[in-house]
Amino acid sequence: MALLEVKNLEVSFGLRSGAVKALRDINFTLERGERIGVVGESGAGKSVLGFSILNLISQPGRITGGDVRFEGKSLQNLEDKDMRTIRGNRIAMIFQDPMMTLNPVLTIGDQMVECLLAHREISKSAARKIALQKLMQVQIPSPEKRLDQYPHELSGGMRQRIVIAIGLLMDPDLIIADEPTTALDVTIQAEIMELMLELCERNNVALILITHDLGVVSQVTQRTMVMYAGRVIEQGPTKEIINDAQHPYTQGLINALPQMGVRGERLQQIRGSMPTLQAIPKGCAFSNRCDYATERCRVIPEFTRSGGCLVACHMVEEMVAQSENKAQEGGA
Ligand code: SF4
Repeated sequence: MALLEVKNLEVSFGLRSGAVKALRDINFTLERGERIGVVGESGAGKSVLGFSILNLISQPGRITGGDVRFEGKSLQNLEDKDMRTIRGNRIAMIFQDPMMTLNPVLTIGDQMVECLLAHREISKSAARKIALQKLMQVQIPSPEKRLDQYPHELSGGMRQRIVIAIGLLMDPDLIIADEPTTALDVTIQAEIMELMLELCERNNVALILITHDLGVVSQVTQRTMVMYAGRVIEQGPTKEIINDAQHPYTQGLINALPQMGVRGERLQQIRGSMPTLQAIPKGCAFSNRCDYATERCRVIPEFTRSGGCLVACHMVEEMVAQSENKAQEGGA
């Protein structure tokens, strides 16, 4: 049985102008210990997906279709107290800004102990011992001293390590990390991602890594889902997506990545911007930014299999044939 199964998930927001769909037709499974990246620009629906897995969509949003199953059990109709047991205990969420998680007026130790006592029947001193162990796991220098410090006394990188330690307190089976390194310097970003990878591998924890950064996804995850305007438009093994993306949007994201060793060339941008939920084009949502759009694209594309990936684009078969022809010509 899969650890997590998301089936036909749909989330809508009730606005004055009418209901708009923020997520449509999201389908994926995640096995124990597996790491999946969710990529796309701002407004693609990545964070809404993270929150909806934990049933944390706030008004005017709500889940209007589909199901999220954790170890086979639907999370949609759970009583609040059962859902609270799953959140934090079995599934932890890590946010971009550590200050969203940390309470500025409590010491790190008090926050960690409080969190443990809310979920487990243990003594305060046992909780403090566990907190210390977790700080050691995330390789915080002088962990004992950190327990008695306040968040403002620590650097951004250290605060994010503490948030990861808090996420690990209950030994979760799944971590949902929403842009966990975006607020940090590049060198610290790399250290934090390495740490997350090591901790997930060592503890067999599954990871949903939500990010706009395909570079980060390629370092950490085995599978990738690319989202656009509330839908998944390409998904498959991360290596295949990075090396041979089929969807024009994914290709655009990859072409926009800075290349090591290439100097003096302008980065290629995807023209235009992500449509708002009220202005998603009919048919393929990417059509007003796509260089390959034709009449056919007025109809929403179904998924086509290409290698190990599923790609929602009418042109995918032609594009695969073209690249095969090119490869043959090159080999002739
Ligand atoms: Fe472009 Fe059409 Fe493919 Fe959409 S379906 S990505 S508009 S070619």
